[in-house]
Amino acid sequence: MVVYGHPARLKTRSGFSLNGLDMARIIAVANQKGGVGKTTTAVNLAAVIASADIPVLLVDTDPQGNATSGVGIQRGTFRKTIYNSLVLQEPLENLILKTEIPSLQVVPANKELTGAEIELVEVDGRELRLREALDPVLADFEFVIIDCPPSLGLLTLNALTAARSLVVPIQCEYYALEGVTELFDTLTRIRRLYNPELSIEGLLLTMYDERTNLSAAVASDLRDFYGQQVFEAVIPRNVRLAEAPSYGKPIVLYDIRSKGAEAYFHLAKEILAHDTKGTGSGTERIAVG
Ligand code: ATP
Ligand code: MG
Repeated sequence: MVVYGHPARLKTRSGFSLNGLDMARIIAVANQKGGVGKTTTAVNLAAVIASADIPVLLVDTDPQGNATSGVGIQRGTFRKTIYNSLVLQEPLENLILKTEIPSLQVVPANKELTGAEIELVEVDGRELRLREALDPVLADFEFVIIDCPPSLGLLTLNALTAARSLVVPIQCEYYALEGVTELFDTLTRIRRLYNPELSIEGLLLTMYDERTNLSAAVASDLRDFYGQQVFEAVIPRNVRLAEAPSYGKPIVLYDIRSKGAEAYFHLAKEILAHDTKGTGSGTERIAVG
C-alpha cells in the first residue's frame, strides 16, 4: 500500500522507498535547555515503537551517554561510540548494539564525544557527518530517533541536519519557553543551509503535574501560541519514569502499566498517525496501556 504523507515523500508502510531515497523516519529530540526530558522521551519513544516490532535505531549524540545507559548498555561494556563515526568516519553499522528489546538497537555515546566539537571545527561539511553516516543503515530501520545534548553546538546541528523532523520536549515550569525561539531560529538556518525538508513533528509537554496551576498555565499558553504543533499527548511527572533509567530499562520493560508508559504510548500513536495521515492505518500497531 502506498502512503502519501509529506509532499516529498512517497513510501510504503514498511518504509520501503519508491523513489530511490531511503525513507526511514529520522526524528531528533532536541531542546538546548537542560533537563527537560529529551533523553526520557528519546529512550521511551524508541522503546514503545520498537515494542510493536517496528525496527528502531536510537542514536545517542550526547556525551553524557544517558540514552545509552537508559536502554541498559553499561559504561565500559562497549569500545566504539558515535565518536568513531562522526570523527573517525568508521561505518555506523560497526557501532550498533543490541538491546533487551529485539527491535530496538542503539548507537552509544560516552564522554569521549566531548572532543568531537573541537576536533571537527576545521572540517568542511562537519554538520553533515551524522547524515552521511546514517545513510547506509536507513534501509534496516523504520525509525531513527536521535537524542541531542543540551546545547546548540555541532552535535545538535548534526542531528538537525540528519533528521526529517523534530520533537521538542518542553518542561511544564517557569521559563518553559526560554530558548525555544533560539531553537527555532537554528531550525530555520538548518533548513536554509542543509535540510529544507526538516519539519516540526511536535512540541511535547513533559513533567506535567496535574496538581499544580503552573503546569496547566504552561500547557494552555503553549497551546494558545503553537496550536496544532503541540502534541495531544502530555507526559506526566511520574516517578516510574524517573526510576527506570537507574535499572537501565525503558518504561515498557520497567512498568508498562504506569501513567508514564501510557503517555509515551499515546505519543507514539500520534507520531505513527502523522506518518499515515489520511489512510486510517498504521496506528493500530501501537496498543495503549
Ligand atoms: P539533559 O539536557 O541533561 O540531556 P534531558 O533533557 O535529556 O536532560 P532527562 O534526562 O530526560 O532530560 O530528564 C531529566 C531528569 O528528569 C532525569 O532525572 C529524568 O529521570 C527526570 N524525568 C524526565 N521526565 C520525567 C517525568 N515525566 N517524570 C519524572 N521525572 C522525569
Ligand atoms: Mg539528555
